[in-house]
Amino acid sequence: MIDCDYTRIPFVVGIFCGTGKPSNVFDYLRQFVNELSDLLSSGITFGGRVLRVDISSFICDAPARAFVKQIKSHNGYSGCNKCRQTGNWQNKMTYPETEVRLRSDDEFETMADEDHHINRSPLTGLVKMVSAFPIDYMHLCCLGVMRKLINFWMRGKNSTRQPIRAIKAISEQLVQLRPYTPTEFARKPRELNELDRWKAAELRQFMIYTGPLVLRDTLPHDLYDNFMLFSVAMCLLLTPNISDNMVSFAQKLLAAFVKHFGQVYGKEEIVFSVHQTIHLTDEYRQYGSLDNISSFPYENYLGKIKKMLRKPSQPLQQVVKRLSEEPVCLVPPPPTQPALLHPHQEGPLPQDFRSGQQFKKVQLNNFCLAVKQGDDCIMIKNKIGIVQNIIKHSDSVFVVYKTFKHRESYFNYPCPSTNIGCFRVFDIDSCLNIDRLEVVQGKKKTKNNNFTNALRGIWKVRVLQLDGLGYPHGVLFLFCLFYFLKVILGRGHAYV
Ligand SMILES: [Zn+2]
Repeated sequence: MIDCDYTRIPFVVGIFCGTGKPSNVFDYLRQFVNELSDLLSSGITFGGRVLRVDISSFICDAPARAFVKQIKSHNGYSGCNKCRQTGNWQNKMTYPETEVRLRSDDEFETMADEDHHINRSPLTGLVKMVSAFPIDYMHLCCLGVMRKLINFWMRGKNSTRQPIRAIKAISEQLVQLRPYTPTEFARKPRELNELDRWKAAELRQFMIYTGPLVLRDTLPHDLYDNFMLFSVAMCLLLTPNISDNMVSFAQKLLAAFVKHFGQVYGKEEIVFSVHQTIHLTDEYRQYGSLDNISSFPYENYLGKIKKMLRKPSQPLQQVVKRLSEEPVCLVPPPPTQPALLHPHQEGPLPQDFRSGQQFKKVQLNNFCLAVKQGDDCIMIKNKIGIVQNIIKHSDSVFVVYKTFKHRESYFNYPCPSTNIGCFRVFDIDSCLNIDRLEVVQGKKKTKNNNFTNALRGIWKVRVLQLDGLGYPHGVLFLFCLFYFLKVILGRGHAYV
């Protein structure tokens, strides 16, 4: 992948068509390597200026990475592309150690670890062959570890398989969460018996948002604690700009997760995907939030390409034709003004705003606030509130809201949930408050207070309401929605 700008969407620079995967990586990458060599040495001349080209990262799943790098597969003894641990065969390849010697770019170039390499990669010498191939958490954590954990609970060994009534209870809670799920989530939670059809985004939603909630009273403590080590660490690593201390904390959580995983599920279950979680903090240190280097935007784009096919024959021709019909525009459209929707006359209307126009929903570029469960919870002035009305008055948009009087941690292991922006709130104040929409947007101050960063203030504080789930006093659970929305917003990478 050539990383150009995180605010842009992927675009195609080449497509391979065949009945199987390419047989020869040198043939497959020849044109790319030749062009890349030129670009790296000469740059691009644009508008009379020479622009330098650098490679940021290659985003691949494990088999593709092994193919492009010409290394042993993730099922091999020296298959970890990040460390030199030798696997331990226990009817499957396991990597039980957490204290490991890391691989380096120089070491790769000289092929120092003969057991790791199959052949010299066509990219060797052009790019940093270890650090420019980050781990993609979509495949590793969502489709890998998270699905594996749920499978243990549903279909695993007797010691970790949960009774049918527990699985049913988890499913029921997931379904009960549907009305409270913000519309920005592409999919609502669904039952565990549909697990085999869950998409990566649904597993992500479970890993970060719904899992801590629906598992708390159903999983045995040791399994729940193990899941929480993983969930909280991932929540941190999907948050942009966390402190070095928090990154170190996430590292400790993941090392503890892998060790504890071996104790509760068996050391023979510490396979490649579980092991590689210990390397994720190094990716964060290099690239920031793991969403910056995930496959999500590309997988979404692949889905779009698949939809371009209208008949089984000549797939390549069809795709090329459809792509050529698309407008070429690599610059994102500027942010639009908030769109006010669903006018009404139902109030509540504060004293000085009687002449204002009332609306039930305000839509911005990629999110909305509304007077509706799931879309009505905001953080504003460091308080958590529920939107009561949206008013246009004197050419400004105002949000009318009530706030909760009390908030506390929802869980305390492995850290208080308030540390990761997750609160249990109760006792709503009857007072009406009103503030400009911009106050909500600008609440979270960041170094670069541009539009996207301003949005984080809202995404981070959307709340999932749990009334009717048996929690006392209308308990609310705060969702750090922004983590997920980075996926929806999409970012720009050249697509190879
Ligand atoms: Zn490793």
